[in-house]
Amino acid sequence: MSDKETKAIRIQAKRSHNREHSVPLYLTSSFLFENAEQARAVFADEEQGNIYSRYSNPNVDELLEKVCYLEGAEDGFAFASGMAAIFSSMAALLKSGDHVLAARAVFGSTHQLLTKVFSKWGITHSYADINAPETWEALITPATKMIIVETPSNPGLEVIDLEWLGQLKKKHNLILAVDNCFATPILQTPIDYGTDLVIHSSTKYMDGQGRVLGGMVVGPKDLIAEIRFFARHTGPAMSPFNAWIISKSIETLALRVERHCDNALKLAEVLEKSDKLEQVRYPFLPSFPQYELARKQMKKGGGIVTFAVKGGFDAAKKFIDNLQMVSLSSNLGDTRTIVTHPASTTHSKLTEEERQATGITPGLIRISVGLEGIDDIIGDITQALEKV
Ligand SMILES: *Cc1c(COP(=O)(O)O)cnc(C)c1O
Repeated sequence: MSDKETKAIRIQAKRSHNREHSVPLYLTSSFLFENAEQARAVFADEEQGNIYSRYSNPNVDELLEKVCYLEGAEDGFAFASGMAAIFSSMAALLKSGDHVLAARAVFGSTHQLLTKVFSKWGITHSYADINAPETWEALITPATKMIIVETPSNPGLEVIDLEWLGQLKKKHNLILAVDNCFATPILQTPIDYGTDLVIHSSTKYMDGQGRVLGGMVVGPKDLIAEIRFFARHTGPAMSPFNAWIISKSIETLALRVERHCDNALKLAEVLEKSDKLEQVRYPFLPSFPQYELARKQMKKGGGIVTFAVKGGFDAAKKFIDNLQMVSLSSNLGDTRTIVTHPASTTHSKLTEEERQATGITPGLIRISVGLEGIDDIIGDITQALEKV
């Protein structure tokens, strides 16, 4: 870990003649060439160099170099948002007639992409049950090209065995994409288990302060080359400003993620004793159904705790409206503790059946545990629960 902590801080874009210590913001849409011959050579890929910020930019390149190092990846591309990264990766690598196998519990917008966008272009999908790995193989057809999963998932915190998944993808020669947004490379590096593409919403823990949107995909050179070609000519690139912000934030990623995890575990341990709650889920609680697996592939349990308030949506509403400090918002991975009610907000566009299948009950609450003093976080949440 210490090597990663060092690299997250010490990987920097090349200094200019000003010998700046902190990397400046390269707020420029295009770059100059020395002469016509250099312009020709850069366009012909004979010489390395920036052309236009839709293609590359020093701030974006610095961020990518860091995230590739942290994830153990060869190459990557940065996007305007996590969804731009997921959409572009799939659109670049799939064609009409292809089939995608997805874990049932994928992010709400990823679900919309699969069911409403890619379906228009003849790309089909099947959903697989995370708790029944023995059923996955039967869902793979000759048309299957890609597997896409999140672990831990949003908001159900379901954990998938990455080692098993790596073997499955190898056996069937598929592209395995893992959305590593909840764990971050501080807690788990899916490439170690044979994952091809690691996708991030850098909006979450990577920025970590709720300021900018961003997304990234990292993986082997050949797949990233295809994604880069698609992205360069369709235009979903990350802005230099957002890359500058996120790259700075990554200097403190390890420190922040560790504290998010320590706070989340303490909160989960307290909540587990509450008689107002039905089910407290946190990957590093011994009562968590996949506790052993989580311990095996994650360094700590992550920053998200979920629970169901007894009494359904009405009780959940009462709890939320009685919070004094904790923010009501749909974001996560922020310094501030945030409460979300998935059934009425982030996952409200799903049908009732789809919500049931992913464990999103009417009383389910998702807490993104922040970096405030743990006593204040526990104090606010327990006082609001007492009023339910
Ligand atoms: C937020 C999120 C996304 C989407 O990222 P945006 O930056 O909001 O586009 C994708 N996957 C997961 C797991 C997320 O939490």
